[in-house]
Amino acid sequence: MNKPVLLVVDDDPQVLAAVRRDLRSRYREQYTVVSAGSGPEALETAKELKSRGDALAMVISDERMPGMLGGEVLARTRDVYPLARRVLLTAYTDIQAAIRAINEAHLDHYLSKPWDPPEERLYPVVDDLLDAWQAESLPEANGLRLVGHQWATRSHAIKDFLASNLVPYRWLDVERDAEAKPLLDAANVASDALPALFFEDGGILTNPEPRQIAERLGRSLSAAHDVYDLVAVGAGPAGLAAAVYGASEGLRTLLLDRHAPGGQAGTSSRIENYLGFPAGVSGSDLTRRALMQAQRLGAEFLVPFEVTGVTVDAGYKHLALADGREIITRTMVAATGMSYREHPAPGVAEHTGAGVYYGAATTEAPAFRDKRITVVGGGNSAGQGAMHLARFAADVQIVVRRADLTETMSRYLIDQMGKTPNIRVRARSEIASVEGDGRVERVTFRSLEDGSCRSEESDAVFIFIGTRPISGWLPAGVLRDAKGFVLTGRDVMAAEAYARTWKESRVPLPLETSVPGVFAAGDIRAGAMNRVASAVGEGSMVVRLAHEYLALT
Ligand SMILES: Cc1cc2nc3c(=O)[nH]c(=O)nc-3n(C[C@H](O)[C@H](O)[C@H](O)COP(=O)(O)OP(=O)(O)OC[C@H]3O[C@@H](n4cnc5c(N)ncnc54)[C@H](O)[C@@H]3O)c2cc1C
Repeated sequence: MNKPVLLVVDDDPQVLAAVRRDLRSRYREQYTVVSAGSGPEALETAKELKSRGDALAMVISDERMPGMLGGEVLARTRDVYPLARRVLLTAYTDIQAAIRAINEAHLDHYLSKPWDPPEERLYPVVDDLLDAWQAESLPEANGLRLVGHQWATRSHAIKDFLASNLVPYRWLDVERDAEAKPLLDAANVASDALPALFFEDGGILTNPEPRQIAERLGRSLSAAHDVYDLVAVGAGPAGLAAAVYGASEGLRTLLLDRHAPGGQAGTSSRIENYLGFPAGVSGSDLTRRALMQAQRLGAEFLVPFEVTGVTVDAGYKHLALADGREIITRTMVAATGMSYREHPAPGVAEHTGAGVYYGAATTEAPAFRDKRITVVGGGNSAGQGAMHLARFAADVQIVVRRADLTETMSRYLIDQMGKTPNIRVRARSEIASVEGDGRVERVTFRSLEDGSCRSEESDAVFIFIGTRPISGWLPAGVLRDAKGFVLTGRDVMAAEAYARTWKESRVPLPLETSVPGVFAAGDIRAGAMNRVASAVGEGSMVVRLAHEYLALT
């Protein structure tokens, strides 16, 4: 296997030579630097690399070139190498072009010329982008492989567990990938034992539970300490932020998640409004960065760990885990966010994981290349999901109950969808049923105008509606609103049960629930903003408040 390639494109021979020299001096051990003097030559090179089976890690292109602008080069190489990182080289005066390219070419970064000294202005950017590329790119033939049936719920569950936990793997559909059968035969794995995970060292797990996979991947499955200062339950943006700040401010901090880090945000294909990422950031990239940051600062992270209950004894919180064990902490933050409620239409439950998916399920999108997809919901998450799916599917139909998307979706997403010809909106409608034989084949829609029903062929349904807080694991003493969202701070004081529940001489701190030392942050909280930034803000605030609480006890 050849080294992955960094492709540099510029019509100015001097600039081209300078970029090539700087890249070679730092990356030549792991990457081959290839150059092209024009856009068409770069596209030709990308096609040649593809036909040789080489990996392309990054394209760095100058914007101003005769014949084809850099933005177009980057957009067109994306068709051949969707995962390659894309960087535009611009003159200081071309910032507008770079901003345009962020939207059109899904640019990852723009670099202003000149980039001297490269140690400060070029290498940190390239290092960061190559780390992200490596985390997403598929392992070579001998890396972790998952073999299974595309329409089996268990295959989907394992794919989702691996991808959400940022473990690169290769999916081999037993019916379609030629590599699958010889692998199964050589290992004597029967097709009714699937899905099977083949590890690099030759080990195999058939139909494994997430815990077995985590153990086999060398993840820790027990807490390192007897008592913690802060435990964040749920590793979405709120829990991750609490872990980063808790660890950095000297608290013995543990972060737990029942499924994977990242939470809802981790499933987003592109978060465009999070501060500091002008080109947007994928949920998995943001998660990878945040988790690395939390662990580097000293937070411990355990997955898959589900908290099922909490009791308080002399101020210490005892967290009961689904496996029967217990974790003790002086303060905790409930950051378990929200999840989708099961859609009640007939046919949805039996096809869940076999063509029906809740949320973005980004791992499944490539399986629907050239197919028809139904997206249910009119919020930003549905819009992002539709945009991502439209890169693969022939037709993406969004089903909404309202007359249009203007009240529920951000303008930038409505505009992006308007420019995407294979996305259409079916307004004032809902799903009446989902039909198919072992996989989704048809969806029946009901009109909310006249109640009439109409069936259409569809290969998948992605559902983005019906969220509810995950707060059932908290003790009864934690007051909630009628929908189950957790009350904190002043909302606790305004609750009818306040006097009966709160027995301290002080009032609850902001973000503190009706149980002293138990905080809540992010989407689980009544009045939450349902944004990554607000969840991160609250998770960070909790640490300061936990210090205040600890000083009082
Ligand atoms: C597809 C999609 C796209 C989005 N795009 C954007 C966007 O572009 N911009 C934006 O600002 N917002 C966006 N949002 C909203 C944003 O992601 C959420 O507001 C944010 O993730 C909330 O963070 P959180 O930490 O409160 O909870 P969550 O992200 O919901 O995380 C909760 C975590 O808790 C874990 N958990 C649950 N129960 C337990 C338990 N009992 N024990 C242990 N762990 C448990 C879950 O596994 C999960 O990982 C999007 C949401 C979705 C679904």
